[in-house]
Amino acid sequence: MAIKKVWIEEGCIACGLSEQICPEVFKVNDVATVIEGVDYSAYEAQIKEAAESCPVEVIKYSE
Ligand code: SF4
Repeated sequence: MAIKKVWIEEGCIACGLSEQICPEVFKVNDVATVIEGVDYSAYEAQIKEAAESCPVEVIKYSE
C-alpha cells in the first residue's frame, strides 16, 4: 500500500524535526504543514519515520 494522504493534526510545537527528516514533504514555520502535490508514496519511509519521531504525534497519513 502506498501513502496517498498526509496531514498534521493540531498541537504541533514546531520543533522542526519533520522538515529535517523529509523536507520534500514537510515545511515548518509557525506550525508544520504538508507540501501539496507531492508523490507521497516516493517518500514513504521518511514520512513514517517523521510520524514516529514527532514528539507530539500529530503527523498522520493514510494509505
Ligand atoms: S515533528 Fe511534529 S511537532 Fe515537530 S515540527 Fe513536525 S509535526 Fe511539528
